Amino acid sequence: MPKLIDKFGRQINYLRLSVTEHCNYRCFYCRDDEHTPNCKREDILSYEDIEKIVQLFAQLGITKVRLTGGEPLLRRGIAKIAKLISRIDGINDVPLSTNAHLLEKFAGKLYQNGINRVNISIDSLIPERFEKVTRGGDLSEVIKGIDAAIQTGMHPIKMNMVAMRGVNEDEIESMIDFAIDKGIDIRFIETMPIGSAGIEALTQHISKKDILAKINKHLNNQLTPIVSNKTAGPAHNFKIKGTNSTVGIISAVSNNFCQTCNRIRLTAKGDLILCLGQQDSISLRDAVRSDLTDNEIKSMIINAINKKPEKHEFNSVIDNISNRQMVEIGG
Ligand code: SAM
Repeated sequence: MPKLIDKFGRQINYLRLSVTEHCNYRCFYCRDDEHTPNCKREDILSYEDIEKIVQLFAQLGITKVRLTGGEPLLRRGIAKIAKLISRIDGINDVPLSTNAHLLEKFAGKLYQNGINRVNISIDSLIPERFEKVTRGGDLSEVIKGIDAAIQTGMHPIKMNMVAMRGVNEDEIESMIDFAIDKGIDIRFIETMPIGSAGIEALTQHISKKDILAKINKHLNNQLTPIVSNKTAGPAHNFKIKGTNSTVGIISAVSNNFCQTCNRIRLTAKGDLILCLGQQDSISLRDAVRSDLTDNEIKSMIINAINKKPEKHEFNSVIDNISNRQMVEIGG
């Protein structure tokens, strides 16, 4: 099996694929208030473009493709995209990241079409607060979406909460209890300074240490560290004793984990992004729509991977990522 290895010896086997720049939520830390997607239909990767690009990545050793957005469930044909990706030789893991607003409608079909697991973003269990953070979101729809995912048998189901001081830090405990009650996992994410919205939200940043202190206090002595598993990613995870749930923390800012980075990102317009904290990208959309042969495109990808930086520089250089909106990159 071929392997994509960068110049720091990291094996890249995970592609995060954004299928749309549109989102029905406007989380204040993810996109500027006035931000609206700026793209024509033909700018966005077609089904054929997506299939071709993922086939080439699979031939280079990518095994996992996460569908993200914007909000991926807004993309017309999302179930078809899931199906065509999950059938590609070499791809054996096709998770989804969603705000779950539309998940009740799509969960069954997506599961049938190869979405084996799902991450659901949810920042509050208080309806008014949820609406405020998401600038218009409806918590009851999200909870219906979570229940629908549970019904399908997708596993694991992880809720992701961006923990923010003065916004929702007082809900860390209730979020854990909610996850335990549903028999699913919960992970707390530090805010990251991507785009001006993300940079502004750094004032509400809570570090992994402080989040962990709250978790420990709430669950005292009920946590067993999980060394690593296939779906852990960069999260530091614990099994919650006597439950079916795990709790984890993703701390890109206070605890850089770039040395284990195995991922690259493709935007809905087909730009390959090598690191969340850098501006560099190459257009794979233009490549697959050109006369380049498959081998030439694969060489382009290998050359790009060789330029993947050693680490993000969130803590020192944020000017180079201030123009990006997380909603365009897919998290
Ligand atoms: N709409 C989908 C969703 O809600 O999961 C997928 C896209 S969203 C951009 C992916 C993830 O990025 C979400 O969990 C969101 O909370 C997270 N995110 C967005 N901006 C962030 C920031 N500045 N810091 C940390 N996480 C962020």
